[in-house]
Amino acid sequence: MSHDLFEAARDAMVHAHAPYSKFPVGAAIRADDDKIYTGANIENISFPQGWCAEPTAISLMIMGGARRIVEMAVIAEKMPLCPPCGGCRQKISEFASKDTKIYLCDEVGVKKTMTMEELLPASFETEVLG
Ligand SMILES: [Zn+2]
Repeated sequence: MSHDLFEAARDAMVHAHAPYSKFPVGAAIRADDDKIYTGANIENISFPQGWCAEPTAISLMIMGGARRIVEMAVIAEKMPLCPPCGGCRQKISEFASKDTKIYLCDEVGVKKTMTMEELLPASFETEVLG
């Protein structure tokens, strides 16, 4: 990969707003427009109202005009690996393909590479976005 994607995710993690969990997470997407979109988790004192790093990055990708995730990196400060949570797997799959690579990183680099199919087999699908 894609060293730049890992670095972008790590840099994004700095912007996390995680005063409650104290658990910063960063994500970076390489989109179909060849740009990198990043995100961090943004928590709220009303806990269910916060959101993960992945949807932040997806939001920026969509608002930037891109529509497909080519590859994605996720990193968390306090975890050796940070696989996307269940909800995020569904959110990512909406804009990814079964063979889209998701890089699970630690603070040094990519520790594990998984495809979307491996992360979310038998996913709830729509053909709308192809
Ligand atoms: Zn999540």
